[in-house]
Amino acid sequence: MFDKILIANRGEIALRILRACRELGIKTVAVHSTADRDLKHVRLADESVCIGPPPSTLSYLNVPALISAAEVTDSVAIHPGYGFLSENADFAERVEESGFVFIGPRPETIRLMGDKVSAIAAMKKTGVPCVPGSDGPLGDDPEENLRMARQIGYPVIIKAAGGGGGRGMRVVHAEGHLLNAISLTKNEAGTAFGNDMVYMEKFLENPRHVEIQVLADTHGNAIHLGERDCSMQRRHQKVLEEAPAHGISEALRDRIGRRCAQACVDIGYRGAGTFEFLYENGEFYFIEMNTRVQVEHTVTEMITGVDIVREQIQIAAGEKLAYTQEQIRINGHAIECRINAEDPVSFMPSPGKITRAHMPGGPGVRLDSHIYNGYTVPPHYDSMIGKLIVHGPSREIAIARMRTALDETIIEGIKTNIPLHQRLIDDGNFQAGGTNIHYLEKKLGL
Ligand code: ADP
Repeated sequence: MFDKILIANRGEIALRILRACRELGIKTVAVHSTADRDLKHVRLADESVCIGPPPSTLSYLNVPALISAAEVTDSVAIHPGYGFLSENADFAERVEESGFVFIGPRPETIRLMGDKVSAIAAMKKTGVPCVPGSDGPLGDDPEENLRMARQIGYPVIIKAAGGGGGRGMRVVHAEGHLLNAISLTKNEAGTAFGNDMVYMEKFLENPRHVEIQVLADTHGNAIHLGERDCSMQRRHQKVLEEAPAHGISEALRDRIGRRCAQACVDIGYRGAGTFEFLYENGEFYFIEMNTRVQVEHTVTEMITGVDIVREQIQIAAGEKLAYTQEQIRINGHAIECRINAEDPVSFMPSPGKITRAHMPGGPGVRLDSHIYNGYTVPPHYDSMIGKLIVHGPSREIAIARMRTALDETIIEGIKTNIPLHQRLIDDGNFQAGGTNIHYLEKKLGL
């Protein structure tokens, strides 16, 4: 096992990785910007290195600073967490070229999945179901593009191959708008992502977002840990996630899950990953793969008992998966609320000093958060300050536990989105289960 791991991230995920390292007896190195000296994991780590000023381009995205920090501390491996450099193939390559282990997939895999056109092509080849669409990037022939859209059937969506974070997409409802939409999306994609390749997909009107968690080792073994429902979104950002997904039968889970695990074997995948799907009328349609640990990995941990971050580290160290598919059992139901430092109505970020914090507890309650009494939320980064996760024997009990846990949580000095989560938990349609990706925005009147 590794002697020392450098954690190339901040906030709750840095703390989560630190906890996994401690359980495994691995020493930790925290890196931080000058705005993050007081982060909880920085205090708890064996060593810490300041890597730059507050803007993330100068600190958490500063590759030379990260590599030097790993060198001066004699770290053996680097865990990138999520966000920042976690899906940057060039970074993974630099880490490996510098003689460190990158805790994640091989750089080639990150590159393959980072381009949506090549990712979809790879998935089609291994038999993962995809959204009906153009086979590859759109060419310049207007007649051909019009013919393709007619064949797919309107509405269609034009998407940038290099897009991410919900940007670089345009829905087209009628033929008259198609060609203009293609050229607009192409232009935007060229400017925003440095890659003007676009492709076309059938636009699914009322899908749910259902994703499959996988783990694959370097010995040719891959398993899935079932699905998560992340349909509760605002501006393509997940707000609340749960597992398992309402209404997915064991047979369906098994079928799509095994497909994903097999795809991992076929592409030589390494580590933890997520296959994201749109799910409509009983069918799964692949949209993209995330080649890292996700924010919402926790709900899967609660219902399977598998420590995903521990598995990531063990896989990177060359160990075999600790589980076979047959050993994975889904137990009960888990829900996660992302707690953000923001106004619950306007969604404006609300950084500042937390003057009082009382955290919830009780059976089946887990809080993954780096905040504490007196902590100041800096204005420079993502507004998520923690994740409240509950687990119960049934969805009803999980909902009841979440309501109690949200009511118990007191965070003063800054605004949080807890009131929004309280509204959601009490929403009749959420309680009934199976709401689609548009539900939250409709509820909020957006
Ligand atoms: P990103 O990498 O920007 O997150 P995705 O491909 O994952 O892009 O798509 C983000 C979101 O856009 C999806 O969760 C869904 O809400 C919407 N979307 C993408 N493709 C389609 C489609 N073919 N039909 C309907 N909605 C889509």
